[in-house]
Amino acid sequence: MITLLLATRNAHKVEEIQALLNSAVPCLTLRDFPAAPAIIEDAPTFAGNAAKKAMDLARWLSALPGGELPFPLPSSLWVLADDSGLEVDALGGAPGAHSARFAAAGGAAEGNSPDSENNAKLLRLLGTVPADRRTARFRCVLALARVIAPTAATSGPREPELPVAFFSGCCEGSIGFTPRGAAGFGYDPLFLPHGQERSFAELGAIEKNRISHRSQALAALRDHLSHLLNPT
Ligand code: IMP
Repeated sequence: MITLLLATRNAHKVEEIQALLNSAVPCLTLRDFPAAPAIIEDAPTFAGNAAKKAMDLARWLSALPGGELPFPLPSSLWVLADDSGLEVDALGGAPGAHSARFAAAGGAAEGNSPDSENNAKLLRLLGTVPADRRTARFRCVLALARVIAPTAATSGPREPELPVAFFSGCCEGSIGFTPRGAAGFGYDPLFLPHGQERSFAELGAIEKNRISHRSQALAALRDHLSHLLNPT
């Protein structure tokens, strides 16, 4: 049995990931590890940030002295990190890896900005760019790293035993002229997936989860996990 630690403090991401995994895999979250370190997301790419979050947390867990937690670590524990964001063609791919902190001064790595401010900045920068030039896409990269449980023979952090595995998804669409809808999070009220007249925030969780960047990445992860669990 594999247990996943979802390495995100974004409650919306946790909700989407758990809905998409459909209870197939037991999940812990960072709420179960209140002392987990905050990871600075300063890599220039989604894959770089996802790998950093997964590996740093796997190392931290592998170095936890026994008795530090109120429960024993599951024997096959893997850290799953999600790094995702929006790429807007008319802005040269921005906000990209800076999506969460787009409106913060200088895109500061340590401080996310409120969704409403990020959305307002995006609309301001796009201004009167016409509909056919407002193309954009959401990308999601998941990184999976195994936690090597500490043993009597080892001390200090241990490197993940296997290379980090990556799973990615991409959802094409365009940016609307005004926020629409109340569901979801982040840029959902501004993002119209290709072929839809409604924003992600108007579509709601069930329809978003059928087509989103995150659902595509999680479908690839599910395949990978089923091979790990049934290698033949
Ligand atoms: P991070 O991956 O936690 O660094 O942040 C990703 C940021 O990208 C979020 O804070 C949102 O602003 C944006 N984002 C990622 N995925 C979605 C999504 O599914 N809907 C809306 N915004 C998203």
